[in-house]
Amino acid sequence: MAPYLSIVIPVFNEEANIANLWQRLSAVLAEHFHDPGRPWEVIFTDDGSRDGSLALLQDLAQREPRICVVEFNRNYGQHAAIFGAFAVTRGQVIVTMDADLQNPPEEIPKLVARIEEGFDVVGGWRQGRMDNDSLFRTLPSKIVNMVTRKTTGVQLHDYGCMLRAYRREIVDAMLQCKERSSFIPALANSFAKRITEVPVEHAERAAGDSKYGFWKLINLQFDLLTSFSLLPLQMLSVLGVIVSATGIGFGIILLVYRMLHPEGTVQGVFTLFAILFFFVGAQFLAFGLLGEYIGRIYQEVRDRPRYVVKKLHKTDE
Ligand code: UDP
Ligand code: MG
Repeated sequence: MAPYLSIVIPVFNEEANIANLWQRLSAVLAEHFHDPGRPWEVIFTDDGSRDGSLALLQDLAQREPRICVVEFNRNYGQHAAIFGAFAVTRGQVIVTMDADLQNPPEEIPKLVARIEEGFDVVGGWRQGRMDNDSLFRTLPSKIVNMVTRKTTGVQLHDYGCMLRAYRREIVDAMLQCKERSSFIPALANSFAKRITEVPVEHAERAAGDSKYGFWKLINLQFDLLTSFSLLPLQMLSVLGVIVSATGIGFGIILLVYRMLHPEGTVQGVFTLFAILFFFVGAQFLAFGLLGEYIGRIYQEVRDRPRYVVKKLHKTDE
């Protein structure tokens, strides 16, 4: 019988968390999804882990036929890993979560219940995040959330929380998106009609380090900005108009000044320099932005696969 609920978990060097995660997750599944009308499956993606994660996952898959492990041939990033798992899910309701136990599995029934109420996408909204994560990690997320709210126009509190539930149609729509760089929560919202959030607990990372360094976060932010909006490009034109208007106004002022004081010597050279530097800086910023979009267009037209699956580990039911 095809599963009703699919749990999707990307794994990258999480050997210290897997046993614990499975223990808690299987307890939740056994308690809430035991009735035969709602069978479940769990899809792990091994995103090129270099530790013992893959061996642990394979072992789980051998013991539990409802577990499937998608093995990537290298590390492609969290969102690619989730896509890799999405591609093999069969459930009507799909729940994504992190492997580091920051998303408590005990919240899953709550998310599923909201989907059953008729929502297309249910996002987790992490409570007490500030106590558990460092400022260095929460500040960039705050900026990500703000920019996402502005660019996607959907008012959610927490885009970064990966404890989320989706209806089958939404996942199917996302699977049809071929772009390489993507941010799943924002992508899902662009296909969903009814979106809601539920407060979820947010724990400290159980073991290991965050897999997001500074550059990975910057990259994610650029993904978001350029994949979901043309706003930065439009801002460029606005900036251009403002700059030229200022320039023209300036010229007029200088001309009038010249006519009123024909004998006046050159003044304000430094002011002019300051203004010049400002404009030059603005131009470089603009070029950088254009380059970012062009670079991304280049990546898309090459149309390389988002990830390569090395092997699917699954015991037959
Ligand atoms: N992850 C992944 N590939 C990566 C980075 C992360 O599959 O390249 C997984 C990781 O194993 C975890 C989830 O994505 O299950 C979230 O990562 P992490 O906890 O490091 O992110 P943070 O909580 O710091 O946002
Ligand atoms: Mg984490």
